[in-house]
Amino acid sequence: MAIWNLGSINADMVYSVPRLPRPGETLASDGLRYFLGGKGANMSVATARAGARVHHIGAVGHDGKWAVDRLMEYGVDTTHIATVPEPTGHAIIAVEPGGENSIILYPGANHAISADALGLALSSAQAGDILLLQNETNRQEDAARIGRDLGLRVCYAAAPFDAGAVRALLPWLDFLILNEVEAGQLEAATGKRPEDLPVKQVIVTMGARGARYIDTEKGESRDFPAMPVTPVDTTGAGDTFTGYVLAGMDRGLPMPQAIGLASRAAALMVTRQGTADVIPDLKDVNEARF
Ligand code: ADP
Repeated sequence: MAIWNLGSINADMVYSVPRLPRPGETLASDGLRYFLGGKGANMSVATARAGARVHHIGAVGHDGKWAVDRLMEYGVDTTHIATVPEPTGHAIIAVEPGGENSIILYPGANHAISADALGLALSSAQAGDILLLQNETNRQEDAARIGRDLGLRVCYAAAPFDAGAVRALLPWLDFLILNEVEAGQLEAATGKRPEDLPVKQVIVTMGARGARYIDTEKGESRDFPAMPVTPVDTTGAGDTFTGYVLAGMDRGLPMPQAIGLASRAAALMVTRQGTADVIPDLKDVNEARF
């Protein structure tokens, strides 16, 4: 089987600054680091590192070849990443010495995915494959509808939270994953708790408190603990968790086993500084001692 991930690709540009600039102020940065980012790219890398076959569907600008090359290097199929006139999506991140930051996110090419490109990509998918969506691209609803028609398992990571997108996608979903803040926002927007949603399987992640799996058809829920680690950098924990759960589902693992593996991968991830470039592979996850 395979995973089709309609997802964002960003250049994360991290500027070190002595402090965050004030309105009207020009401030020199004394360092710039450039990383591959975007929730979509992170999740594609995580599924590939977990051993799954993943096809990324997305778009970059003419300035984005390096990001596509990086994804390819990490084992992601990039055939369905288009090059469009808009600039590659990017985040301009200013970071103070203490770690406080401010972020400007420009979606760019991530919002320029065409219906034709999406349709063409998904025409190669097989019934039973997984379709993964998040909220950093356009065309999620079209994808969900096509996915359902083709008999794909439609999976959605509801981040960054967007009430309109969730409402539009809920009828098409087989699987929903979100963190507890997003679960609260979803309840506020729809009046429904995760267990009452019209989606067969739901996972709510709870940071260092682990994750809750809800099988709404059986009316059952089960909590899974997080691994005990000292966190260094929690960015990308949720994306790594999601990628590993989906790779497990794709391999036919029972859900408790997939979540166990995802918890180990995400715990290892929070001990590492960085995002897509440091997502652990299956060998590291299997060998890790907690
Ligand atoms: P997000 O990054 O989307 O906010 P969470 O913070 O809920 O998501 O983290 C996702 C998963 O990563 C958790 O369910 C847990 O398994 C793991 N995780 C996150 N933070 C920690 C931590 N401090 N220690 C161990 N595991 C963690």
